[in-house]
Amino acid sequence: MTTCPACGKAFSAGAVSSAPFCSDRCRLVDLGQWLEGAYRVPASEMPAPTRETDASGDEADAGGDRS
Ligand SMILES: [Zn+2]
Repeated sequence: MTTCPACGKAFSAGAVSSAPFCSDRCRLVDLGQWLEGAYRVPASEMPAPTRETDASGDEADAGGDRS
């Protein structure tokens, strides 16, 4: 007997083609959760570089004015 990592249901791995999951649905659910977590991390870091570019552009303008 194998325990499905997605839903925790016990099943016999030899009887299904979706092993180690009990069904194709559980395999897709688990993959979807993994992708959701992988995409969420880099997305939250996106706004930071944009602000940095703005600040350095301001600084370059001020320096050119002074000289
Ligand atoms: Zn399952």
